[in-house]
Amino acid sequence: MIVGIDLGTTNSLIAYFTEEGPKIIPNRLGRPLTPSVVSVDEEGNVYVGETARERMSLYPDTVAQTFKRSMGTDRVYTLSGRRYRPEELSSLVLKSLKEDAESYLGEEVTEAVISVPAYFDDKRRKATKRAGELAGLKVERMISEPTAAAVAYGLYDKTRDTRFLVFDLGGGTFDVSILELYHNILEVRAVAGDNYLGGEDFTGVLVKLFLQKCGLNLGHLTEKEQVRLYRQAEKAKCAVSGEDKVTIRCLIGEEEKEAVVGYREYEAACADLLAKIREPVKKSLSDAGLRLSDIDEILLIGGATRLSIVRDFLIRLFRKFPDTKMNPDEAVALGAAIQGAMKERNEMVKEVILTDVCSFTLGTEVVVEYEEGKFEDGRFCPIIERNTVIPASHTERLYTVRDNQDRVRVRVLQGESRFARNNLFLGELDVEIPKAPKGEEAIDVTYTYDINSLLEVEVKVVSTGKTQKMIIKGQDNTMTEEEIEKRMEELSYLKVQPRDQEENRLVLLRAERMYEEALGERRKELDRYIMRFEAALKSGDHQRIEDARQELEEVLEEEE
Ligand code: AMP
Repeated sequence: MIVGIDLGTTNSLIAYFTEEGPKIIPNRLGRPLTPSVVSVDEEGNVYVGETARERMSLYPDTVAQTFKRSMGTDRVYTLSGRRYRPEELSSLVLKSLKEDAESYLGEEVTEAVISVPAYFDDKRRKATKRAGELAGLKVERMISEPTAAAVAYGLYDKTRDTRFLVFDLGGGTFDVSILELYHNILEVRAVAGDNYLGGEDFTGVLVKLFLQKCGLNLGHLTEKEQVRLYRQAEKAKCAVSGEDKVTIRCLIGEEEKEAVVGYREYEAACADLLAKIREPVKKSLSDAGLRLSDIDEILLIGGATRLSIVRDFLIRLFRKFPDTKMNPDEAVALGAAIQGAMKERNEMVKEVILTDVCSFTLGTEVVVEYEEGKFEDGRFCPIIERNTVIPASHTERLYTVRDNQDRVRVRVLQGESRFARNNLFLGELDVEIPKAPKGEEAIDVTYTYDINSLLEVEVKVVSTGKTQKMIIKGQDNTMTEEEIEKRMEELSYLKVQPRDQEENRLVLLRAERMYEEALGERRKELDRYIMRFEAALKSGDHQRIEDARQELEEVLEEEE
């Protein structure tokens, strides 16, 4: 079975295809979402998801999150003194999802379709693939997130040609994609976004309002107090959706501070964030050569599209109601699972051809004549432009710039700068040409870029018809079997916690955190319940553990 995985910035999900359609697989805690958070303690014990997130306020130095943003970069995260690359942290999340799926399905899971943001370049896609390999998963295919969402919405089943806009506002990233379904081909026409805009920023606004109202300064709070405040603000943010006003309470020092924020007040404070949403929407439309009125459907994905403030803004912006029949958190994973089924040629799903866009410009270095007889070299000439649908093939004719020039060097570059030196060098090809006065000889440079990030460069001398070819495999930094095995071995000191105790661990962590937040009598009472639960855990008596945990959970619910 090929599972579908949404490896998100904030949360990750895993899904599979059943006779009744795609389904989300619950994690070991029985929940659909697994926070993309990893914690490693001094002894090398690994915690993933909710438990790792709960450790954030107690042991911040052992926790990493939002590492998806650094995929494909050299950034290193230090947890309990040990260093990890983003794809290694991602692999721990994937491994946890894989184990949950295996225990749920009762079979081994070795193949997956993993979703990636449409704007992820080759390097970041390769890093994602490597994360899969490190988790013991063969990554059958990567699907872009908006395409996966569109597939999940069943748009691939439409008979009519449709244009839609996928609006994805997650915890920390924002993407807009324009897709088009045309004769059974589902095509990403354009993507745009903001890597630093998401639900967390809307939480940040509430934090600021709280601080203002209480006359506090974030810099004066301890790290733990800050974590606590963000947690409370996050809760308030989700609640404000339906209410006129919301109260944020937080223990600062010895005192519980409180602030009331009204919906309109919150909306006004979010004005800058909402304005930031407008730009990528405009850019994606103009890159696709479309107007807002050309869009037939708007799909919302990403947890932060649940915010009333965002929804209200979108209705004003688009002047129509977005399609919200899907759970915005689940659409991408479900779409990836459908893609997995397509890949397996499951007869229940019709195969649609999914295309993608090139997320960066590919071109070559040229000399330009900026005035009669005056030349400037080192300029960049785009051949396949950003957001071109791939597979794509484009040809550019280039002329000689000197008399009796007998060769041309074709340098292959990737990037958006007007200057070759600022773009990424991918390779070069030398071509011989017959001598002639300048401008009389020419070459046709053809770039063909396919969905697997293979770029074929063909240079044809126009006068002689002689051609030369080169294939560039992106920066193929896929690891070899041995390299993967070696790194897996290096990571093997990590001790993955037994699955069955996850719930107990989570309750204990939550209790410890609340103990730290509580004072006086409440604190003592909590301590009593925690000790009772710990004693039950030591006894190993299953029933006793269950009872004590339930009792403790009830107390915690009440506290919170
Ligand atoms: P994602 O990255 O798609 O999982 O989205 C996570 C973001 O969605 C976080 O910033 C959450 O605070 C936000 N979020 C989740 N549920 C809600 C809700 N009911 N109301 C507002 N924001 C939400």
